Amino acid sequence: MKAQLAIIGGGPAGLAAAIAAHEAGVRDILILERDRECGGILNQCIHNGFGLHYFGEELTGPEYAGRFIDMLKDTSVRVLSDTMALDLTPERVIHTVNTAEGYMQIEAGAVILAMGCRERTRGAISIPGTRAAGIFTAGAAQRYVNIEGYMVGKRVVVLGSGDIGLIMSRRLTLEGAEVLACVELMPYSSGLTRNIVQCLEDFGIPLYLSHTVTDIRGKNRVEGVTVSRVDENRRPIPGTEMIFDCDTLLLSVGLIPENELSKQAGIILDPRTNGPEVYENMECSIPGIFACGNVVQVHDLVDFVSEEAQLAGRSAAEFLQKGSKPAGRLITLTGGSDVSYTLPQKIRFDAMPDRIKLSFRVRRSFGESKIILRAGDAILASFKRSHMAPGEMERVTLPKKLLNEVSGNEIILEVKEA
Ligand SMILES: Cc1cc2nc3c(=O)[nH]c(=O)nc-3n(C[C@H](O)[C@H](O)[C@H](O)COP(=O)(O)OP(=O)(O)OC[C@H]3O[C@@H](n4cnc5c(N)ncnc54)[C@H](O)[C@@H]3O)c2cc1C
Repeated sequence: MKAQLAIIGGGPAGLAAAIAAHEAGVRDILILERDRECGGILNQCIHNGFGLHYFGEELTGPEYAGRFIDMLKDTSVRVLSDTMALDLTPERVIHTVNTAEGYMQIEAGAVILAMGCRERTRGAISIPGTRAAGIFTAGAAQRYVNIEGYMVGKRVVVLGSGDIGLIMSRRLTLEGAEVLACVELMPYSSGLTRNIVQCLEDFGIPLYLSHTVTDIRGKNRVEGVTVSRVDENRRPIPGTEMIFDCDTLLLSVGLIPENELSKQAGIILDPRTNGPEVYENMECSIPGIFACGNVVQVHDLVDFVSEEAQLAGRSAAEFLQKGSKPAGRLITLTGGSDVSYTLPQKIRFDAMPDRIKLSFRVRRSFGESKIILRAGDAILASFKRSHMAPGEMERVTLPKKLLNEVSGNEIILEVKEA
């Protein structure tokens, strides 16, 4: 099988990329989606809070995805659902399998990676204790409760106070469970402030910062967990143990970009994001392969996923119509010590548009502060913020004309308390 443009993943990133590429004139677009239908993780996020930036209204996850799925109906974009991409070669050949056609090879003129991310599990954080039933990742529990119609437990402890942990604390409470505690290893929550208020405080669920689960009890089913305070090096402090009698432990301990295919293709990955390194137009290190959404960086807001994916879609269309961008002057973007990552990692000066968006996350919470873009000793631009937190992705705009004024090929993005 052949396709001008193949998109792996039919979540919000894949959908928006397909629509943007179609608008830019590509007619032969194929979306490969391993699930029964498109929509990605949004299909199980039945809470509201989606679309405030993009549509200017508050939608649920399925409503947000539904808008993009509806837009696809007016296009020639084909969707192959129930189809798993197993392998990707640098020559842009995708190996897939599904129940109807079996094994297939798809030769694509350009590829967009939009596979999203996956959850870290108990094994990834090595919690001691028994291997009883009743330990779920928060996303798996969300799928059971919101899509499959199964309740996961009655007395629940949640480890991890990122957005998924917070949202599932509220969801299980609304479904009749008692959520005894939300436990967070770090001294701050990595979730959005609105979610801490609306999902924990409004329901009286205690948040234990600088704590972790140090033991799990129970033979067949979980019977309880031990929670201990941790020191500044995140080591449990003896004598601080609290016992919670619960039947369920939910783990919301981080997301990792789904990058098996990127690795197989030999795409350069950034160890800070765990996603592909990208240029200013979302192209990866292999020409003609683009990436967007959670496979590149874990986003907190889907609105920015859609925006990033539109850029990838337009860029893939341009590649198909005009070929590769000239390398020319290459500028690298890196972060200062309080910045956990910056994106894009590389900027092709000659090919960049008049302005590009840079995104990054901070490592710790900041009050009144400044974001500074520096090239050597020269300050290119600075931006004020009243608050920044690790849970919230930050973005600033870099105008091209600022780069005319510097000769170096490295830009550093720093944050400083005002
Ligand atoms: C619990 C939770 C709550 C959230 N709450 C909010 C919120 O309130 N507001 C907000 O704006 N955002 C929220 N988000 C974030 C938002 O949902 C994500 O940022 C967004 O879904 C990411 O889109 P994506 O397309 O990159 O990834 P996904 O939605 O994960 O889609 C990836 C798709 O790729 C498919 N795929 C993966 N690998 C393959 C393969 N090999 N072959 C074929 N298909 C494949 C998957 O099946 C999936 O459909 C939340 C996320 C979660 C998990």
